Amino acid sequence: MPQVKVENVIKRYPMGEKELTALRDINLEFEKGEFCGIIGPSGSGKTTLLNIIGSLDTPSEGSATVLGKKVEKLSPKESALLRRNHMGFIFQTYNLLPVYTAYENVEFPLLIMNMPEKERKKKVMDALEWLGLSDRANSRPAQLSGGEAQRVAIARAIVKQPELVLADEPTANLDAENSHNILERMVRLNKELKTTFIFATHDEKVIRYLRRKIHLVDGAVTKDEVVS
Ligand code: ADP
Ligand code: MG
Repeated sequence: MPQVKVENVIKRYPMGEKELTALRDINLEFEKGEFCGIIGPSGSGKTTLLNIIGSLDTPSEGSATVLGKKVEKLSPKESALLRRNHMGFIFQTYNLLPVYTAYENVEFPLLIMNMPEKERKKKVMDALEWLGLSDRANSRPAQLSGGEAQRVAIARAIVKQPELVLADEPTANLDAENSHNILERMVRLNKELKTTFIFATHDEKVIRYLRRKIHLVDGAVTKDEVVS
């Protein structure tokens, strides 16, 4: 069974008297270990689709099965648990907690899982090391560069070794060097831990790393290509 299956998904948003159709009959499957992206211009529906896969939103019609669960059937509590236990999220803005250190930001998802301290500490140190941040553990977000802050956000997303990582425009605020740096690290995580990565992006610096490109135009898939 695919890890993610999107079937006949339509998403409409109310817009005054009318409606805006953000997704038009999307059908897609994602296998474990993919490194792929939903690509397309701004407003094409990338975030809407990624949020449905991440159970942050539900379709107006159709169905999305993620890790064996139909997201549209989950209660808010069930979808929160699905996200907490099995998914990592990376956003354009790093969404770090400003009063916490890098270490504490990465530790946060493990604290809410009630993981014992010893195990927690090891996982946090490992994640920081994976992202080349061991020497920044005690820095707060304001003391970090954009590239470092995004690497902390990635460490936080992968610290519990989720099956699935969703990254929405993760390089939007990064220069070429930092973009390259984080993509190389994500490729390595994908290879070594078999973590599935699904990006939403229109950044060429990301797109050239993808092994599968799903093109979205005006809410519809126009091309789904596997890069050999
Ligand atoms: P992308 O991520 O590709 O830029 P989005 O998924 O954010 O595209 O948006 C797709 C379309 O849906 C856009 O026209 C956007 O204005 C609209 N849209 C997105 N979210 C909402 C919302 N919460 N309410 C109303 N319209 C929305
Ligand atoms: Mg978007």
